[in-house]
Amino acid sequence: MSQPFIYAEIPMFGRVYDCGECGCVHVQVGPVNITFQPDAYMQLVDLIHQSAANYETRIQGRLGVEARAEEENQ
Ligand SMILES: [Zn+2]
Repeated sequence: MSQPFIYAEIPMFGRVYDCGECGCVHVQVGPVNITFQPDAYMQLVDLIHQSAANYETRIQGRLGVEARAEEENQ
């Protein structure tokens, strides 16, 4: 049995940790706690990573539209 290990933590939001007992990765966000097999956890990371990149691109696109609209109003 290994020691519990916290991979990441944001106070008042959540954390990702290894409980040291089951070999899974635990993702806790607020009151929700989801347990992932290591390979499933890596897929989750990939999923979040892809969504973050697309989210950023989409937000920047919107900001671009707003900036152009402001230029046209001047
Ligand atoms: Zn565990």
